[in-house]
Amino acid sequence: MQSPLSKFMPQFSGEYPKPFVSLFEKMTLPVNGDRESVKTKVWTAYDFAKHRHEGQKRSSGKPYFEHCLAVGQILAMWGMDHSTIIAGLLHDIIEDTDVTLQDLEQRFGKDIAELVDGVSKLGGIQFSGKQAKQAGNFMKLLLSVAKDLRVIIIKFADRLHNMRTINFLPEEKQIRIAEETKEIYIPLAHRLGMAAVKWELEDLVLKTIHKTEHHEIEKKLKASKKERDKIIQNVILPVKRELNKYNIDANIYGRVKSHSSIFGKMERRGKSFEEIFDIYAIRIIVDKVEECYLALGIIHQIYSPIQDRFKDMIATPKSNGYQSIHTTIIDSKGQLTEIQIRTREMEQTAEIGVAAHWRYKEEHAMAPDLDSNVKWLRELVNILKDESSDPAEFMNLLKIDMFDDEIFVFTPKGDLEKLPVNATPIDFAFQIHSEVGLHCLGCKINHKIFPLNTKLKNGDIVEIITSATQEPSYGWLKLVVTSKARNFINRHLRAIHSETGIKIGKDILEKTLRRLKRKNDLEEIKESFAKFGLDSLDQLYESIGNGTILVRDIFKKLKPKEKISLEEDEEEDQARFIDFARSSSKGIKLQGIKDLMVSFGKCCNPIPGDEMVGFITRGRGLTVHRTNCSSLPILNEESDRLMPVEWDVSKKELFSARIKVISQDSPGILKKISECISSLNINISSVDLKVMDNFSTAYFIVKVNNVIQLDRMMKKLIAIKEIDFVERTDK
Ligand code: MN
Repeated sequence: MQSPLSKFMPQFSGEYPKPFVSLFEKMTLPVNGDRESVKTKVWTAYDFAKHRHEGQKRSSGKPYFEHCLAVGQILAMWGMDHSTIIAGLLHDIIEDTDVTLQDLEQRFGKDIAELVDGVSKLGGIQFSGKQAKQAGNFMKLLLSVAKDLRVIIIKFADRLHNMRTINFLPEEKQIRIAEETKEIYIPLAHRLGMAAVKWELEDLVLKTIHKTEHHEIEKKLKASKKERDKIIQNVILPVKRELNKYNIDANIYGRVKSHSSIFGKMERRGKSFEEIFDIYAIRIIVDKVEECYLALGIIHQIYSPIQDRFKDMIATPKSNGYQSIHTTIIDSKGQLTEIQIRTREMEQTAEIGVAAHWRYKEEHAMAPDLDSNVKWLRELVNILKDESSDPAEFMNLLKIDMFDDEIFVFTPKGDLEKLPVNATPIDFAFQIHSEVGLHCLGCKINHKIFPLNTKLKNGDIVEIITSATQEPSYGWLKLVVTSKARNFINRHLRAIHSETGIKIGKDILEKTLRRLKRKNDLEEIKESFAKFGLDSLDQLYESIGNGTILVRDIFKKLKPKEKISLEEDEEEDQARFIDFARSSSKGIKLQGIKDLMVSFGKCCNPIPGDEMVGFITRGRGLTVHRTNCSSLPILNEESDRLMPVEWDVSKKELFSARIKVISQDSPGILKKISECISSLNINISSVDLKVMDNFSTAYFIVKVNNVIQLDRMMKKLIAIKEIDFVERTDK
């Protein structure tokens, strides 16, 4: 009994539409798998895609779904697993309909949803002529964004069908797509060992870009077909007879080489079609590797081989996994003919390359001896060789991590940016444009707000939020990994720094003139910068600010005859500023920044060897504190104003440290302590002693090179019998 609904639900009636049946028949199914459940799954996807693309048309005027079906069919022909075929049917659904990734995941599971998502992401990447030199990068991008190689394989099926139907597109678009295919997909197909795909794409590109030449070759191949077939048969027959004697079941056929390879030979060798002898090859397909060599022996018995045209790519496979024996012989009529010998397994691998690994294997087939400089491919082979390999582990290896030193992320428009691993949104922002970087306030990663210190991942879509008032801080230097970002940030910080110097200089000059009651000289001084070898007034201010030029020097130069005496305190006032503005002599090294104003926190008084951190105050430079200093501001809110600093001191420089010593009040204890300290060649610069209840508390200020020397001294002190307590103290 047939339900009236059967037309809509063929999974219950078994009456599927013809195109679906033809797709399903092409599929290779797992031997022990549940055929019906696979059929239902594929049907669900087929039906879903057909309805969702309903009403959409291709340039040819045909329903859009026909493209999706064709991609599914190509994948089925390649013997791909059903997840890949289902993803092929759905490959344009995210891009071209309102179906979301979540929808797909719910309906078809994570695996298929991720495949479709991968294909959609690749779709967003456009290769433009401008980037022609980056073809290699682009290939890497495809691979790393895809994560799962099956995404690339679906993309190849998609591209193949688009190329097959390219003539419906406007001429300009045809050329663009053909160029992209030539620059990106063909080399990639070669690298992945997808020879059949490569040949077909090459021919389609030739047909699009060199229409006339393609047509010419086509015509000549047709015209010479009869004669060629005769030659081929003449060579094949004796070989067939001999192989039969050895009971070798071989499939022998002649095949014309691709139009594009003939075209390439004509171009390279500057010859006409008639002069190209190797336009076809004879192929011998056998079951086992031994039979390949046996067949080779037989052929060389019948025909003379040309020595330097013999290649054993079974013993030494090509890096893309291609395996075959090639030999060129001279036939009975003196013609050169290439013969290719390989097993069925190798044939399959040679046609679809890495895609062959997703084929359902009838039994545990011999792993082709793939070799490659690509790490994952080698690991893949090792897994395949291992009889006990777990299919899940195998699938895991297909996730690509071949370019682990770089990542690729997208702009919101789908443009691609290459960044080093560990790059943050700030790196990304500077990569886009220095103005974006300099005003970068926050970011969205995959449409969600994230902090600027987030490490970007392959395939992330990054959007930078800018604000006109935002500017780089020292903390940013800790977050960036690209030199571009680092340079821009440093340049900006230097500019701020010199701005501050200018302000201080102006301040000093005006203040000094006021005190000297010589404000009338200001204009003259302002115009005098050239006399000091400077280019601008700002440079003069900056020099005053950082102490390179003293106000006294200015007067000496401008009014050499006048006696102007700057009082001591004014000199000191300037010295304080200078001291404040000079950093290098203070022994502090800042990552990438020189000449920053540095002062030490009076609260904790760090000495070399102490862990330190700098705190930025705009306009007042950097204050250095010990990491454990209690007067450091609450960190979380202003952590971008903290920056790492290092000691950069020579051994001779001395630093003050204050220590507190509590001891029993015995006669001569002070002498003992000071002798102990001097025995280490440490000078005491001040002592403060208080006695109370038989205990004395002494505060010493000592001059030490570093924290190691201080520690040594404190250990020696505590070893003195009368001393109960020694501590470094800041207050
Ligand atoms: Mn498509």
